[in-house]
This record gives sequence, C-alpha cells and structure tokens, in this order.
Amino acid sequence: MKPLVISSIPDSGLHLKGQFDHDIFDLADGDDAKPAQNVRYDLKVSDLESLIFVTGTLYGVFDLTCTACLERFPCHLVIPEWEVDFPLDEIENEEGLIDLTERIREDLLLELPTTPRCEDWVKDRVCPGARSAHFESSEHTAEPDAEGGAGENVWDALDDLGDSDR
Ligand SMILES: [Zn+2]
Repeated sequence: MKPLVISSIPDSGLHLKGQFDHDIFDLADGDDAKPAQNVRYDLKVSDLESLIFVTGTLYGVFDLTCTACLERFPCHLVIPEWEVDFPLDEIENEEGLIDLTERIREDLLLELPTTPRCEDWVKDRVCPGARSAHFESSEHTAEPDAEGGAGENVWDALDDLGDSDR
C-alpha cells in the first residue's frame, strides 16, 4: 500500500479498498503466528482540517497453534470498525505522507489472541482438546461471548470484503 498523500485527499474523503502482501508482518521464524493471506482493507479517509481520520475494516489471516489441542488452524482476523487518526502537526515529512501500512500491521498483530483456541475461530469446529481444557478450568465458559456477539459482525464484515471492486 502506497503512502497516503495528504494533499490528494478530496473534501469528500477518499475510499481505499484493496490488499497488500502479508510479508509486511516480517515475523521471526520462531513466532507461532504465521501470516497466511494478503491483508485486505476497506477504508474511508477524511481530511478534518487538523487531522486525517481513517476508519474502516481490516482483514488478515494467520496460522496459529490452538492452545488446547495444539493443532494449527487459520485465524481469520477482522477488525470491523478500525479507527486511526493522524494529527497534521505530528506529520514530520515535507511531502505530507502517511504510512497506513505500518499502523495496519501493528493493529492486526495486537488483535491476535494471546491464548488461541481453534473452535473460537474456525466455523463449526469442535476442538478435540476442549473437553480436558474445560475440565481443568471452568473459566472458559465465559468465552462464547466472543462468538455470539462480535462473531456475527465479523462474518458480515468478511462478506462485505468479499465483493471487492478495487
Ligand atoms: Zn483446538
């Protein structure tokens, strides 16, 4: 994704939709998370006089290891209401460029689950390690929250990204 040129943002705002290579994550070989697909974005950029405001949807796929069954699984990470702003007085390059890629990279990595569970991320999957994990810790009963509420939105957002007309 090319840097955003502030002077090129029209008053009506800018719609950015596309994808870029997952190589940007540049994770260490020993890192459990492996980016598996290009990162997709669908963003609206607005010039609000004193700052540049960006909002929209980010989507990335990572291969992770389930902490319960130890199998690898694809984690489809969606941030449906991503927001970031860039105050103009903090932009230090003369050309007025904004590097959105770096912010997208950071925020997707921050969204990665710290204790990934395959069945939280793979539709209709029942984790073979779940039973023993539940037995050991009843705290996991709180987890369906992640599936019920936000989960629906996540798949909706994914559908929106599917019909891409870049
Ligand atoms: Zn599992």
